[in-house]
Amino acid sequence: MYRLSKKQHGPKCTFCKTERATHRTKYFAEYSCMHQECLDKAYSAEQHREESENNLTEADYQTWNQL
Ligand SMILES: [Zn+2]
Repeated sequence: MYRLSKKQHGPKCTFCKTERATHRTKYFAEYSCMHQECLDKAYSAEQHREESENNLTEADYQTWNQL
């Protein structure tokens, strides 16, 4: 998770869609405001994304290995 600087006028929170975002996940995939509920969702979304990336890398590796 990355904290948005005050200069970056963030878009709205991906989760509650009412507050301004104060944090973003990797690759700007999701934005979160300062509410704990939204932060929790953003954290798990980011974690989930990293896990699927790891799976993809693993699959690619296996594909290359077979060639
Ligand atoms: Zn929110």
